[in-house]
Amino acid sequence: MGNPVTLFISETFTSIQGEGLLTGVSSVFLRTSGCNLRCRWCDTPYTSWEPTGRRETLADLVAIVVASPARHVVITGGEPMLQAGIEPLTAELSAAGYHITIETAGTIFRPVAVDLLSISPKLSDSTPAEPARIAVRHERDRLNLSVLQQLIAYAPHQLKFVAASQADIDEVAALVSQLEVAPDRVMLMPEGRTVAEIDAHLPVLIPACNANGWRLCDRLHLRLFGNTPGT
Ligand code: SF4
Repeated sequence: MGNPVTLFISETFTSIQGEGLLTGVSSVFLRTSGCNLRCRWCDTPYTSWEPTGRRETLADLVAIVVASPARHVVITGGEPMLQAGIEPLTAELSAAGYHITIETAGTIFRPVAVDLLSISPKLSDSTPAEPARIAVRHERDRLNLSVLQQLIAYAPHQLKFVAASQADIDEVAALVSQLEVAPDRVMLMPEGRTVAEIDAHLPVLIPACNANGWRLCDRLHLRLFGNTPGT
């Protein structure tokens, strides 16, 4: 017998989904650790800038899900599509009848079992100023149009953009014009790690949603729990 399949996991918890189409749905969150990007405003730096966590076997992760009353599973990160173990994990959870959301930046494709791909493409404003080596790598890797198209064609999806300015909105419009995506699956989510920050960005996002038929995406978990690991 070979080694058991494992994933590098930062945290697991049951909480309320705070973003997107399934806002409000109680879900088991499996947060993978490790990311190919380094957003300057990353709200989970413990999965990207300084990834921490532990290896968990498939069997342990399934047991964590089964122990929760929730029927929705959210696999998030970090970048969960980095880990090959996500393929057997989602296959097993899907066979057991769970609804699976995968939250990804949309730069890597894997043939996962998934009910909702929550894709969050990164705009140029995400690129950190330094260190220079990381900034160059982030800028090179943050968008991959052919992978985005592949993901959108693969499964039900939402495109969630972190935005704060008119420049961000213009970038979203330019990008979605190159993709086959319904306007009401395009979401603008205010940048910010506090309620005050997200509220400050809403006034510029609301008119853009109305002008384009896009959806406004709040961050309910920030309002309920703050920017706290395990929520
Ligand atoms: S893609 Fe997500 S986890 Fe990775 S650096 Fe950006 S915000 Fe953080």
